[in-house]
Amino acid sequence: MKTKCLIIGSGPAGYTAAIYASRANLQPVLIEGPQLGGQLTTTTEVENFPGYPDGVEPFQMMDDMRRQAERFGTTFVSGIVTKVELNTDGSKLKAHKVWVEDTDLYEADAVIIATGASAKYLGIESERTYKGRGVSACATCDGFFYRKKTVAVVGGGDTACEEANYLAGLCEKVYMIVRKPYLRASEIMQQRVLNNPKIEVLFEHNTLQLTGDGKVEGADLVYRKGEPDEQLRHIAINGFFLAIGHHPNTELFAGFLARDAEGYIITDGASTQCFSLPFREGQGVGLPGVFAAGDCADPHYRQAIVAAGSGAKAAIEADKYIKSL
Ligand code: NDP
Repeated sequence: MKTKCLIIGSGPAGYTAAIYASRANLQPVLIEGPQLGGQLTTTTEVENFPGYPDGVEPFQMMDDMRRQAERFGTTFVSGIVTKVELNTDGSKLKAHKVWVEDTDLYEADAVIIATGASAKYLGIESERTYKGRGVSACATCDGFFYRKKTVAVVGGGDTACEEANYLAGLCEKVYMIVRKPYLRASEIMQQRVLNNPKIEVLFEHNTLQLTGDGKVEGADLVYRKGEPDEQLRHIAINGFFLAIGHHPNTELFAGFLARDAEGYIITDGASTQCFSLPFREGQGVGLPGVFAAGDCADPHYRQAIVAAGSGAKAAIEADKYIKSL
């Protein structure tokens, strides 16, 4: 299939790019990817997206965005992009190639990458052993299974606080395992956690391993590891929720686009224009027709509203590029 504008990803960046691109009459095709609605759908409630004074349920918000893009003519393809071949030879006439599920080839003049980011895990072996059997990176998805039980949330950021609060509404008790002596989360989220009698914050604790017979039944922790007062501690838990940040979903583009040390796509200053390889700081060469928006290119803000804004920018830049062909 040949299209002027192909958008990869169905989070706020992808859908906003689709709204703008379809209103510019680019008839975009949007590949929805493995998580319809993106990362936001793994949270409970969105309170800081302008236009929703009473907050909004994330699935509702993403569905609103999708319907808005559909109204102006976006075509949606459900599937996962498995391979890309971006046109790196500078010829404006040659299209970029994107394969969905290895078989369906899409050729596009402009590609907007809005693939977002995914949850990180600690990397301990028992985490893999119990994945799906007590280990989860999404309280909204799995919290229901732990009603009236005891769980732990790892992390001290906004996500961890939000998840701990959500789980406290379902569970008997929630531990927060925080490696530093303080929380990194915003003040309002910290207060909600610290004032919740069901949540116990274990500062300066790290997880050594999970224990249990076929499913998570406990966690071995270490307090102030390496310090003279180091102590081991065991907590009995039924669920172990990771909330320690994310890594960008950009591996597909590794051979074509400049990325930073963590894998975030590097864009040209305030623009969403991507750089081709080899890349040298301050001397990057733009890859014509390839733009990145949202968390896959944003190690700093990682907010839905910022992702949506960059999606709009990417579509405007793609439109300008397509008109120049
Ligand atoms: P953050 O990067 O902000 O926080 C990650 C947390 O996990 C930190 O406390 C960090 O500890 C801890 N951590 C990281 N690696 C490990 C490890 N190996 N072992 C133990 N702990 C670890 O990620 P978030 O997902 O919380 O937030 C990302 C962004 O999204 C932020 O900008 C946040 O403000 C925003 N956000 C906003 C929300 C809202 O406004 N409603 C909701 C959710 C997120 P340390 O502090 O020691 O580095």
